[in-house]
Amino acid sequence: MSKSNFHLSKSKFLSGLQCKKRLWLSVHRPDLVKPASKKQEQIFQAGFEFEDIVMKRYPDSVKVDFTDLNKMVSITERLIKDGANNIFQAAFYYDNCYVISDLIRRVAENVWQLKEIKSSTSVKDVHIPDLAIQKYVLENNGLNIDDTFVIHINTDGIYPDLDSIVKIENTTLQVSAYSLGNNLQDFQDLISNNVEPLKSIGLHCDDPYECEFKDYCWKEVDKYSVFFIPHLKGQKKEKLYDSGVQRIQDVSPDYPLSENQRDYIDRILNEKIEIDVDGIKDKLSELQYPLYFFDFETTSIPIPIWNNVRPYQRIPFQWSCHVMDSNGDIKHFEYLHPKNSDPRRKLTEEMIKCIENEGSVIVYNATFERVELKKLADLFPDLSNKILSIENRIWDQLDIFKQHYKDYRFGNSNSIKVVLPVISPDLSYDDLELSSGGEADIYWFEMLNEEDEMKKEEIKNHLLKYCELDTKAMVIIHEHLKSL
Ligand code: SF4
Repeated sequence: MSKSNFHLSKSKFLSGLQCKKRLWLSVHRPDLVKPASKKQEQIFQAGFEFEDIVMKRYPDSVKVDFTDLNKMVSITERLIKDGANNIFQAAFYYDNCYVISDLIRRVAENVWQLKEIKSSTSVKDVHIPDLAIQKYVLENNGLNIDDTFVIHINTDGIYPDLDSIVKIENTTLQVSAYSLGNNLQDFQDLISNNVEPLKSIGLHCDDPYECEFKDYCWKEVDKYSVFFIPHLKGQKKEKLYDSGVQRIQDVSPDYPLSENQRDYIDRILNEKIEIDVDGIKDKLSELQYPLYFFDFETTSIPIPIWNNVRPYQRIPFQWSCHVMDSNGDIKHFEYLHPKNSDPRRKLTEEMIKCIENEGSVIVYNATFERVELKKLADLFPDLSNKILSIENRIWDQLDIFKQHYKDYRFGNSNSIKVVLPVISPDLSYDDLELSSGGEADIYWFEMLNEEDEMKKEEIKNHLLKYCELDTKAMVIIHEHLKSL
């Protein structure tokens, strides 16, 4: 096989399988990589923590430290020669390709098992080529690979028994059946070439992973793109795009779309605002004072840290509530769990103190709050009547934007973050340090771990401001709807 100035690695090989342009850009244009978000960093960190838990199963193991790849390869070689039986992060090189294996386990003289550790909750299709490329490189280094496995998170496991969150699945048959084909050679030829390959955007940009070059490749994609037609299957969007129909104005009147999808195109192209005032008034007439505008923030971490919590179980740690009486007077209440302990009991007690036995509980996207409240009611039987009373009085503001209020400026979304700045241009989540609910729990853990009191206070304020804006937004939207 021809040598290239550029080496492949396991992750580059997998990038190439997802999209050749992604592989090429990763070698030639690393400057275009979108920096990892806090959420992605949290996922990487969880991967390391899970690996530490797995390592405890193999007390006689050794781990090759991350350093220069060639050095890792020679350390691995030496460990194998010296008789190590369980090696974490074992590194190998063959055919211009480096691989680092999460765990190799000697089961007989020169017979090894290959185990890949993933913080996913099941074996995914992408894990098979991942193991296949490792097996190829390891076998060409003279190791006989007996079986391959994926070690992943078991969502039936429960804290404090961390060993129970480890699940091992044998993938030997799938990996043996997987053919690398000419991909190694093709990918090496590709990265040796200085010309960026042509590749259209499509579903592969998010499958199996969100591509780090989306900002670059998708920069022309805006609300007029066929990719934004709501509820149109991904394959259909991709087919339209690949056939040259890239803008919604180019979609033929004969192309099969639902009435809602046609309405969407018409609304965007003609900048229409459609408000069904009677429908909105009917819906608003269901409300009973006092009105509680309520929102939870939750965390859902892969490695549980509190008793009786499972991996990825959603746990609320903060809420905000604006209370409006029949005169229109508003008071704000909030709860943010202050310490690193299970927040649910205290958070629930404070919520019950805030939300009394009468009045509508206004949320935005009721499914989420309903599920969380029912889980709290199951967890605390002594409080369940009060919790279920809150759940029974939930009223979903989002329904109005699904059924009675459409505005071309919302694009294909009716999330509160999109609706708020259209209705109240002075207010936007963009002005906040913390502007996405997905990152709220990261800030919360930062706050809990911060030792500097001033910094702790600063992070706490970001969290409080963010959650408060969620319920303040609902109040502003409510007042706007009432004024129609
Ligand atoms: S954004 Fe899509 S087309 Fe561009 S490199 Fe990534 S996967 Fe390929």
